[in-house]
Amino acid sequence: TNNFAYEETLKYFKGDDLAARVWVTKYALKDSDGNIYEKTPDDMHHRIASEIARVEKKYPNPLSETEIFDLIKNFKYIIPQGSPMTGIGNNFQIASLSNCFVIGNGNDSDSYGSIMKIDEEQVQLMKRRGGVGHDLSYIRPKGSAVKNSALTSTGLAPFMERYSNSTREVAQDGRRGALMLSVSINHPDSEDFINAKLEQGKVTGANISVRIDDEFMKAVKSASEYVQKYPVFSKNPKFSKTIYAEELWKKIVYNAWKSAEPGILFWDTIIKESLPDCYADLGFETISTNPCGEIPLCPYDSCRLIAINLYSYVENPFTKKAKFNFELFRKHAAYAQRMMDDIIDLEMEKIDAILEKINSDPENEEIKHTERHLWEKIRKKTLQGRRTGVGITAEGDMLAALNLRYGSKEANDFSVEVHKNLALSAYRSSVEMAKERGAFEVYNAEREKNNPFVLRIKEADENLYQEMVKYGRRNIALLTIAPTGSTSLMSQTTSGIEPVFLPVYKRRRKVNPNDKDVKVDFIDEVGDSWEEYIVFHHHFKTWMQANGYDTSKKYSNEEIQELIEKSPYHKATSNDIDWMSKVEMQGAIQKWVDHSISVTINIPNEATVELVNDLYIKAWEVGCKGVTVYRDGSRSGVLVAADDKK
Ligand code: UDP
Repeated sequence: TNNFAYEETLKYFKGDDLAARVWVTKYALKDSDGNIYEKTPDDMHHRIASEIARVEKKYPNPLSETEIFDLIKNFKYIIPQGSPMTGIGNNFQIASLSNCFVIGNGNDSDSYGSIMKIDEEQVQLMKRRGGVGHDLSYIRPKGSAVKNSALTSTGLAPFMERYSNSTREVAQDGRRGALMLSVSINHPDSEDFINAKLEQGKVTGANISVRIDDEFMKAVKSASEYVQKYPVFSKNPKFSKTIYAEELWKKIVYNAWKSAEPGILFWDTIIKESLPDCYADLGFETISTNPCGEIPLCPYDSCRLIAINLYSYVENPFTKKAKFNFELFRKHAAYAQRMMDDIIDLEMEKIDAILEKINSDPENEEIKHTERHLWEKIRKKTLQGRRTGVGITAEGDMLAALNLRYGSKEANDFSVEVHKNLALSAYRSSVEMAKERGAFEVYNAEREKNNPFVLRIKEADENLYQEMVKYGRRNIALLTIAPTGSTSLMSQTTSGIEPVFLPVYKRRRKVNPNDKDVKVDFIDEVGDSWEEYIVFHHHFKTWMQANGYDTSKKYSNEEIQELIEKSPYHKATSNDIDWMSKVEMQGAIQKWVDHSISVTINIPNEATVELVNDLYIKAWEVGCKGVTVYRDGSRSGVLVAADDKK
């Protein structure tokens, strides 16, 4: 890459090499010859602001380009995530602006043809960027009859490897495709599914999650039998198998403890709370989620993501006068919702360009058929629902800056207040847009009137509810909390609703041991070499500065430890928070998020299987829609505790 440009990039990020590299490799505008056209994120933010402003002009009361630029510049307030950040106004790539897609077959269609069609659709979507999820519950179980030369079927597990391999084959300019495979616990092969990744090197290209229903959880708690069926939940199954729920549950918990997977999706909670499922008969039946789990989706729907940087609403951070500016936050939440809706119009232009490319390709019609049909289905669903993904990042830094300890009751209550304000502002904005731009195509107040999320809105703001019934809403579902992996590296904050990993830690960077001047500190199990360097969490430094500590001084390990103990990050890191309290926080926040929340509970290496069991059961009881755990060391990661001598 161009060195001169990199110097400027590094200056923009004030010497934060990781942030600068992530930005250049993943998001800066570049062509297929490797020429980079943006030197700093300012260039990118102008590109994005100009495109969103172009859409705003089509509608009443438009936001100006300057207003939009001021909202997104420096990753300060509103951050379009991943796909929209790279894709908006980017004419070098014919790609989608969606971060997430779900695809799928009808329940009665598990022929080889359907299974291979999903394989093709998956790569067609991944090559246009964005993560993909699909559910395997429709595939007939192992040992059931087939009318071909095999006579009995292989079950669903072998197909997992196929989809995983396809994912690994698709590159996405600096990132890889990401895949979610899910299955219902009601499927007779669900045990094979949860074991598929235990063997080293298997299904490494997919995240896997099990859809768990309330009946199964009740059977676990009462140590009773549970009947698996195919087709799943059929009243008239072709195949059924009686199992002890507790035995299968123990295997799930053990695998999660051992290898961080499978993730859990509490499916009845997801469906009961889902607004799109009020329109299930119109094609909005939720069947799986995107790769990190924050967006449950119906087949051929998509979602684009924006994150609001919560830290930036704290005035006088880390001082006694620290205060959260709710008024500014509510205003921006409404703008974020509008910008998300604008991005759907931009996505329509992108989909049209993709379709035009397919149609003008000299490729044979028979081969183009699946791809064309796929994008037509996605186009239709996107317009029918106009789904959006407004979320947040920096919850952990926000709490610390307000002198609230992550995991404490005070902090949890404050977080719920923030997410309630976010939800009400976004919904109000979507209702205002329904007045100015029209409601989503299938909106029907009668269908939604008993939905628990809608009832919560009604109870909190009767007037908003009445306006919604009268004018409708622009978007079928609005909110989410994504992991904000690379987003938070660039905003230099904690990610999503997670606590800080550690205020001071070591990070590993993969290096080529044959290069000049490299320092190899660690060689992993596959023989790759890594360099390690000490990193101060950005807002830990802000705390130091606000409290008169010299950040340029070299501190000993003991001194660092003393500093941490004085800071609001003490006992508030992913390793030393109260995990049960974190699960309660997630459940309470979930009440104000209409999609889902991507969360990983980080537990230490010595944590027991029982702890994972208790956390999962708690998550179900407090109304979480999904949960994953990561036990330190259960996979090789890039972050290491600073006092780790490995
Ligand atoms: N995603 C993806 N590939 C990646 C990272 C993310 O397809 O390498 C998709 C996936 O659907 C995920 C969503 O983007 O659930 C959001 O991920 P994240 O919040 O980490 O996005 P980022 O901050 O990296 O933009």
